[in-house]
Amino acid sequence: MNAIEARGLRRSYGDNEVLKGVDLNVKRGTVFSLLGANGAGKTTTVKILSTLIRADGGSASVAGHDVAGDPDAVRAAIGVTGQFSAVDNLMTGRENLKLMADLHHLGKAGGRRRAEQLLEQFDLVDAADKSASTYSGGMRRRLDLAMTLVGSPQVIFLDEPTTGLDPRSRRTMWHIVRGLVASGVTIFLTTQYLEEADELADRIAVLDHGRIVAEGTADELKRRIPGGHVLLQFAELRELESAARIIRHASRDGDALSLRVPSDGNVRSLKALLDRLDENAVAVESLSTHTPDLDDVFLALTGNPDKVAQR
Ligand code: ATP
Repeated sequence: MNAIEARGLRRSYGDNEVLKGVDLNVKRGTVFSLLGANGAGKTTTVKILSTLIRADGGSASVAGHDVAGDPDAVRAAIGVTGQFSAVDNLMTGRENLKLMADLHHLGKAGGRRRAEQLLEQFDLVDAADKSASTYSGGMRRRLDLAMTLVGSPQVIFLDEPTTGLDPRSRRTMWHIVRGLVASGVTIFLTTQYLEEADELADRIAVLDHGRIVAEGTADELKRRIPGGHVLLQFAELRELESAARIIRHASRDGDALSLRVPSDGNVRSLKALLDRLDENAVAVESLSTHTPDLDDVFLALTGNPDKVAQR
């Protein structure tokens, strides 16, 4: 069963047509990442799916409930953590969690149990009785996510979960997200960090000018983008020029003394390339290989409609 389904979602703000027919299918117990440049419509999509605003057209269901027809059931099944934290700075971590438990009517004993369990799970036991204002960015994000989990949501919308966190805190957050998914929760992730989508997402959709322009696993998306190359570095201009005469379809950079040769990174073709240079007595100082990453995918698919690779 799909945790999230959307068909032909449309939404405008005045004359600005932000979503022009968005289709989404997100399987239960997976991480789905929606990528897009600033202003592409990611937040608008999340707002519709989390019932904060209504679509002008199309339909969507979350956790089996129609977002327009049964918004209360959707709200009961989801958690949203975003750029605006729900953490109250004047309260301790434990108090914040207990307040959430009260809002979810877990009862006194049930609420206490859930708070303790989450403090443990999110490594916040030592800080539990300190005011949240003293928490680091990473601790605050963990507390925020823990608060979302008080209501045991089936689907979580995670908006930019690690923006501003140091590398270690980011990894901790990723570990937590993987743990949630392993327990059956579905995560709808929006992030600016393509590396984060690459790490976490089972499937990725790229939103551009209100339409999904590509969808697939990170590897599938990378395969669609040309851009793999070998960069040969030379010590002298003379060597660069000799190499450029021998290797066709390469682009040279005279200032950097480098030659960029299209390549899929295959070892055999790499060896053949070096052998040819060797046979012609051209000395290469160093080389590096570059396989397309999600940054390349993103740049190729967004912003410039002429470059969009159609499926
Ligand atoms: P970002 O990465 O910058 O958060 P986004 O992909 O989440 O961008 P949205 O916030 O969905 O993009 O915005 C898409 C477009 O809709 C933008 O052009 C934005 O200016 C416009 N927009 C969003 N909310 C409103 C609103 N309440 N009123 C008018 N225009 C809006």
